[in-house]
Amino acid sequence: MTLVAKAAAPGVKVEEKLFQNRYLVDAGRPHIRIRTEGKPSQELISMIYMCPAGCYSLSDTGKVELSADGCMECGTCRIVTAQTGEIEWNYPRGGFGVLYKFG
Ligand code: SF4
Repeated sequence: MTLVAKAAAPGVKVEEKLFQNRYLVDAGRPHIRIRTEGKPSQELISMIYMCPAGCYSLSDTGKVELSADGCMECGTCRIVTAQTGEIEWNYPRGGFGVLYKFG
């Protein structure tokens, strides 16, 4: 007998899996904030490419912007910018944030 492990359904994209998540946004109280007003560090800029939810973007003026509404609370940005101190990171208030429906 041969066992075959399947890590993911064939043909299913990450974006499609992320779309299964639901979020309860705490309007006006983002749980992550960018502290810095100056030139962003390479660590903060790298979050544009590393955030799995695509919460970080680069503005026309070269500033890193954050929209935490779709945050998955993975903590990657917290770890990456720990030395620079450019972000303030907290979990959302109870009842708010990401709701994982399908693992
Ligand atoms: Fe993106 Fe994870 Fe940071 Fe949320 S915690 S903004 S998903 S890197």
